[in-house]
Amino acid sequence: MTKLKVLKFGGTSVGAPERLRQVVKLITTDPQPKIVVLSALSGTTNSLVALGQSWKAADHQLVKHQVEVLYDHYRSFVNELFAQQKNEARNLIDDHFEHMRTLTAVSFNRASNRELLAQGELISTRLFHLLLQESDVESQLIPALEVVSLDENGEPHLEKIRVNLRSFLHDQKSSLFITQGFICRNHEGEIDNLKRGGSDFTASLLGAAVEAEAIEIWTDIDGMHNNDPRIVPNTFPIESLSFDEAAELAYFGAKILHPNTIWPAQKYNIPVKLLNTMVPQAKGTVISGKRSPGSVKAIAAKDGIMAIKIKSSRMLLAYGFLRKIFEIFEHFKVPIDMITTSEVAVSLTIDDDEHLTAIVQALEQYGEVAVDQEMSIVCIVGDLVVDQKGLLNTVFRAIGDKSIRMISYGGSRNNISLLIPTALKSEVLLSLNDTIFKQLVSQKSQ
Ligand code: ASP
Ligand code: MG
Repeated sequence: MTKLKVLKFGGTSVGAPERLRQVVKLITTDPQPKIVVLSALSGTTNSLVALGQSWKAADHQLVKHQVEVLYDHYRSFVNELFAQQKNEARNLIDDHFEHMRTLTAVSFNRASNRELLAQGELISTRLFHLLLQESDVESQLIPALEVVSLDENGEPHLEKIRVNLRSFLHDQKSSLFITQGFICRNHEGEIDNLKRGGSDFTASLLGAAVEAEAIEIWTDIDGMHNNDPRIVPNTFPIESLSFDEAAELAYFGAKILHPNTIWPAQKYNIPVKLLNTMVPQAKGTVISGKRSPGSVKAIAAKDGIMAIKIKSSRMLLAYGFLRKIFEIFEHFKVPIDMITTSEVAVSLTIDDDEHLTAIVQALEQYGEVAVDQEMSIVCIVGDLVVDQKGLLNTVFRAIGDKSIRMISYGGSRNNISLLIPTALKSEVLLSLNDTIFKQLVSQKSQ
């Protein structure tokens, strides 16, 4: 059997009737068997999250209003999208909104709220399936809620997903399968989700489950860029990244690609392509097992970082000190990003301030604690063979006399990270771009 391809279309790719028609064209240009994973129409999950908040706050007036606003949006959407199947589509919308009205009529609970959040993807896939019917394209809807399952730690259960998915692919004449991104069931059998932006992760899990030929993530941008296009002029899409480089960048470009998308693809060595629905012929970015040693691929930055320093002479020559520190973060389920140590102090960064005060209090039993806020991590990603001559020199030249709070080098061959005050970020990105990419940019424009 020809290998399957998994294609995921994000909210903006399905967010307007003409875009959806474009997706139909895109997936029917070749006969290769495909699984198409869809997000909710753009803006829908945000609206459902807001709706859930009003519901939780028991603001019944607002809940009703928000449901009806969204309902009107969908009514006009299907009016514009369909010709022969208008009635079918209206009934489908009415079904889901009736269910949402019933759900939110009783008092709030988390499980029903997750069911509410799932409506976005359930609607978009059913509409798309109907649109394919109207276009005389044979397709089969696969219910993600019966395929994607989480284990007791809330992690996707790849083996189960594989078995579940196979049972739907088995014995079908269809070579085009449509399913929902984002939504799944937890180990208690309740409706759950893979967190915001999780449709990419769904695509990657399904791709791994069928050992697909490729996983294509279709969005409205032309791939990952080599620097932040909002700050740096003349950035360009990176043509290829290794899985390891992409994993380093995913943290910074979480808006482009859900960070968890990389590991299932890497495990089965399946290339992930980031492509643009508006410009389907553009190359985009290919993430694969192919490495290109010695090259810098991208510079990226993340704001909203806090640096925490714990200083204690007890750390000198002591063992077990770091473990005690890390246990505090583990207790609050707060991931640590960067870390540097000296003989008597350790500095680390976090990007979530929800438990900051409690963490600082807990750390104070081990030493003096200081927190720096409004920091940014700037990272240089590539296959930066550690002894690559001149790279650090280039980086330091770019920094000049600007202050750096922390540096992390040698953690992996793929990343050099600098922690700087956010106020300096633009300057640092621009000057790193000049020293590292200037040559590349001039080569590209020749
Ligand atoms: N619809 C979900 C969200 O907006 C999942 C996704 O689009 O990837 O987060
Ligand atoms: Mg996304």
